[in-house]
Amino acid sequence: MNTIQIKNNGGGQTTVAASDLEEFQSGFRGDLFHAGTHGYDTIRKIWNGMFDRKPGLVARCVGTSDVIRAVNFGRENDLEMSVKGGGHNSAGTAVTDGGLMIDLSLMRRVTVNRQAKTARVDGGCLLGDVDYETQLHGLAVSAGIVSHTGVGGLALGGGFGWISRKYGLSVDNMISAEVVTAEGAVVTASATENPDLFWGIRGGGGNFGIVTAFEFRCAEIGTEVYSGLIVKDFSNAREYMRFHRDYVRGLPDEMTVWMVARHAPPLPFLPETVHGKMVVIVPFVWLGDPAEGAKLIKPIQEKTETLGEGLGMHPWVGWQSGFDGLVDHGARNYWKSHHLKDLSDPCIDEIIEFAGRLPSEECEVFIPHMEGAPSRVAEGETAFAHRNLPFVLNIHTRWREVADDEKCLQWARNFHESTQPFAQGVYVNFLSQEGEDRIKEAYTDAVWHRLVDVKNKWDPQNRFHMNQNIKPG
Ligand SMILES: Cc1cc2nc3c(=O)[nH]c(=O)nc-3n(C[C@H](O)[C@H](O)[C@H](O)COP(=O)(O)OP(=O)(O)OC[C@H]3O[C@@H](n4cnc5c(N)ncnc54)[C@H](O)[C@@H]3O)c2cc1C
Repeated sequence: MNTIQIKNNGGGQTTVAASDLEEFQSGFRGDLFHAGTHGYDTIRKIWNGMFDRKPGLVARCVGTSDVIRAVNFGRENDLEMSVKGGGHNSAGTAVTDGGLMIDLSLMRRVTVNRQAKTARVDGGCLLGDVDYETQLHGLAVSAGIVSHTGVGGLALGGGFGWISRKYGLSVDNMISAEVVTAEGAVVTASATENPDLFWGIRGGGGNFGIVTAFEFRCAEIGTEVYSGLIVKDFSNAREYMRFHRDYVRGLPDEMTVWMVARHAPPLPFLPETVHGKMVVIVPFVWLGDPAEGAKLIKPIQEKTETLGEGLGMHPWVGWQSGFDGLVDHGARNYWKSHHLKDLSDPCIDEIIEFAGRLPSEECEVFIPHMEGAPSRVAEGETAFAHRNLPFVLNIHTRWREVADDEKCLQWARNFHESTQPFAQGVYVNFLSQEGEDRIKEAYTDAVWHRLVDVKNKWDPQNRFHMNQNIKPG
């Protein structure tokens, strides 16, 4: 191994001697990668193809002791450190350009306690890993909707999906976490041990340490759910959206109905003439008796023209990975998002105006309905904030060619700005790199001040700053 240059926290380069790297590698069970090492170009890749960063060194850990060793190496050499869980964050924070990337992608063990209905989940797990193991027992952890998303980033920021209206967010189901601190210590964060840290990691992201394992409460949902997609013609989108905003807010928590405006994918139940056409897709999941679910969904089927639908009992694992292909790795992505106070008529008008001119085939306007169990947790109970807002507007801009960057970025920014009057706050996991003021908007003032206190205590040197950063203050 030769001497290598690694970016330090001052922005300069630190020369790391071969003997220091050898010392790091000895006893480290995982692998070290740097430019020229076999596998380096694969391991540095993340979901968002906009980021082609080259870490000076990657430490691919296989256990907690490896993570401690990597953090100590980073701190002792004052290296810029980033942490890669599933590598899914659209802001690209998992990968440092030149520094030390601590990669958790081999730490993917899930252990289910059937009696207690809990799961211990390693910090590098993907959502699919968790479903795979919990579903053996008909259990599920409340989390997101794409199986290749990482649990680490998702659960530290909030974590919502098809069952969160009924069972709460991932942060609401977190019982404890094993955390490696900036000082290289391993601590437990729970309601009784280090409760300030436990509060902070339930919404404050990776600012306070590296979570090597989570313990979650599981929900008993069985292995199949009544679920499906109803596809509406976009030409009636205004009328449908006005109906949808009121209808879904009156539904029981067992029913989750969202809305996606996009070009129709070639879904098997859609006539070929509809493929590629602008549509509003209405996906839903019902946690209950299918016949009752079918009744609840009827008004949605009947409101405006339905172009096709695929409904029925679906295996949970299949449903959870059913959308994976639409958001696979490598495309260029730019996300803008905010919570919506409501879906007022003028807000719907703006949505339709921008959705009507998507800058690429793969863009989508995604509007989940959030109310339910998460809104019944008091604001301030966890660092995750804005629990009472009914909808999220997610502008998923996605394209393939560099030449389309400007057009796509501009569309997303204009769309976001035009819906700002109807918005309040943002989900931290949907932020792009938008600056500190915007990060603050993910939290209330009271939560932000408390997050700074937690940061001051657990990471006063801001070693963990490759994230939606809460600076010590
Ligand atoms: C296609 C797609 C679908 C999505 N769907 C949902 C959804 O349904 N619901 C939802 O709530 N969110 C969803 N998200 C957002 C998702 O929550 C974030 O992108 C999240 O950051 C992904 O976590 P990750 O571990 O893959 O991220 P990474 O990119 O690996 O990490 C992001 C940041 O999280 C921190 N981090 C990650 N793991 C750890 C760890 N173990 N310890 C400490 N810090 C860590 C680091 O600071 C890192 O910079 C989706 C994102 C995408 C791209």
